[in-house]
Amino acid sequence: MVKRKSSRAALCELCGGSMRKNGFTSGGRQRWRCDACRCSRLRRRPDATRLAWFRAFLDWLLGGVSMGRAAA
Ligand SMILES: [Zn+2]
Repeated sequence: MVKRKSSRAALCELCGGSMRKNGFTSGGRQRWRCDACRCSRLRRRPDATRLAWFRAFLDWLLGGVSMGRAAA
């Protein structure tokens, strides 16, 4: 188990490892980088992310969107 750097540190969406601050985007948002798998992410609110996934799943489930479009 990887010890988190701080309680506010983001966790990697791919491997679950702790992420390190890695500068800012041109839009001024905090950029994070995973120590373990080196992926770079923007931190998003987990509830907003979950809601977006749920909506995409519902679109797919209700047959309005093809699998390819839902994945995009
Ligand atoms: Zn990772």
